[in-house]
Amino acid sequence: MPITLDQLNAAPLPEAVQLLDGLYEHSPWIAELAMAKRPFVSLAALKHACAQVLHAAGSELQLALIRAHPELAGKAMVSQTLTAESTNEQSKAGLTNCTPEEFAHIQRLNTDYNARFGFPFILAVRGPRGTGLSKAEIIATFERRLHNPVDFEQAECLRHIHRIAEIRLNDKFGAEPILGHAVWDWHESLAQHTDPGYAELGQLTVTYLTEAHRSCAVQLQQQMLDCGFDEVHIDAVGNVVGRYLGTTPDAPNLLTGSHYDTVRNGGKYDGRLGIYVPMACVKQLQAARQRLPFSIEVVGFAEEEGQRYKATFLGSGALTGHFNPAWLEQQDADGVTMREAMLHAGLPATLEAIQALQRDPQKYLGFVEVHIEQGPVLNELDIPLGVVTSINASVRYLGAVTGMACHAGTTPMDRRRDAACAVAELALYAEQRARQDGDSVATIGMLQVPNGSINVVPGRCTFSLDLRAPSDAQRDALARDVLAELTKICERRGVRHTLEETMRAAAAPSAPEWQSRWETAVKSLGVALYRLPSGAGHDAMKLHEIMPQAMLFVRGQNSGISHNPLESTTSDDIDLCVHAFSHLLQQLATGTA
Ligand SMILES: [Zn+2]
Repeated sequence: MPITLDQLNAAPLPEAVQLLDGLYEHSPWIAELAMAKRPFVSLAALKHACAQVLHAAGSELQLALIRAHPELAGKAMVSQTLTAESTNEQSKAGLTNCTPEEFAHIQRLNTDYNARFGFPFILAVRGPRGTGLSKAEIIATFERRLHNPVDFEQAECLRHIHRIAEIRLNDKFGAEPILGHAVWDWHESLAQHTDPGYAELGQLTVTYLTEAHRSCAVQLQQQMLDCGFDEVHIDAVGNVVGRYLGTTPDAPNLLTGSHYDTVRNGGKYDGRLGIYVPMACVKQLQAARQRLPFSIEVVGFAEEEGQRYKATFLGSGALTGHFNPAWLEQQDADGVTMREAMLHAGLPATLEAIQALQRDPQKYLGFVEVHIEQGPVLNELDIPLGVVTSINASVRYLGAVTGMACHAGTTPMDRRRDAACAVAELALYAEQRARQDGDSVATIGMLQVPNGSINVVPGRCTFSLDLRAPSDAQRDALARDVLAELTKICERRGVRHTLEETMRAAAAPSAPEWQSRWETAVKSLGVALYRLPSGAGHDAMKLHEIMPQAMLFVRGQNSGISHNPLESTTSDDIDLCVHAFSHLLQQLATGTA
């Protein structure tokens, strides 16, 4: 019989601790101390209470807990002396039937890991969906984490211990994150589509209007229809737009969504989570035959990342009337203009059609966006959801420095005009200048020496520059200093430079009433409330220009890594997010009814 929360809340302490037996490996004290926080309104609240107990316990007890765990596929597994919980987990991950080679490989990793860290490797082998990682995934993670710094790895082990406890709790309470599983599976299925060249490498890359991009749009369109949206279409820039109608034809609209394009070799959740979470809510409304006093318009934005063309936020920009007509003539790396790409994709490729996408803010209540955090904050705090206070201002440039290509052997160091060294110097300056602010960031993510040779001093160097800060003023001051330094560096080194601003976005503080709706939704789930700014740009910052907006972040695994195939989130966290979104819809329904 599964335990119920009421049962746990009402039980005398020894009995409550007994109910949670085996939650943390050989460490009943964690559950015992957490019981002081009863009554729990949700499993999420109980999980957070346990995480707080362990956080407060200090490093020594944390290490003891890590050391109370068995090695992965280690001696305890072989001699069958694992706890029932560990046996279940290790066998679900297929570790109990390793080949002799796999077994030997894991033993070597266990030995190396223990020698480096002094504690066993802890991995929630049941993975982000609870169904078990493959042996290949386990071994790859083991190898990767072997190189982590010691402090970081200790914290990562604790995070995995909480994840293990989360799954054990779900089992004990018979609680399946059903909505989270469904949304998680949708992401897997959409991730089949990837641009040519990347498919072979098993990497996810979906750039604007490629074959894979169009397949994504068609799939999203079908999935929206399956969820019960009343109207679904692909618009003139490739956005997938679904509307679930309100109670009356003239009902106002709630706008939501995010992007379905990706960076090169990106993650599965960036953008897509913000399309799928509201889709899951609509599916529920439809199943319950419930109509709200407003229509829900979910948009899968076609282009946000600016990978194939320098047209960042093209999808959401079309809705705010900020489509730049010059973009149509822009060429991709193969010389294909955007206009040609649009025509090839069956889009009208006319300015009239694109301009017609502009939304009338009078008809909208506002815009909300769910997004994976793409940073380490929530993961470090063991909190599944975070309410966004503001999206940072940003500005991007593409530049080139031209010096003099000359012989690497015969040109003395004091007579060189090395273009790459100038950009390298700029990168170091930008790094320390952004650090001065504390919360600004500066990145030179691209730095190339076109046609460079091992024996030639770089005559030309192209680069990108990305600057962000919480306010417009702080960003502008940062940009002013970095650009002034570039001029100084070039003068001193006798090189020339060009610089083109490719994107500028104002800071977008959340609308207070919308932010507070997210906060109410998060609190209703028993999830600890945490507010944070967004360091990344999002479609919400475009919509911000014409209507109130607020965002909700979902914790990412692997310390929140993003723009990377390791980007990951659990079906439990997604499930909470779907419930938070539904709660926001119901709040809005009550408020606007
Ligand atoms: Zn994104």
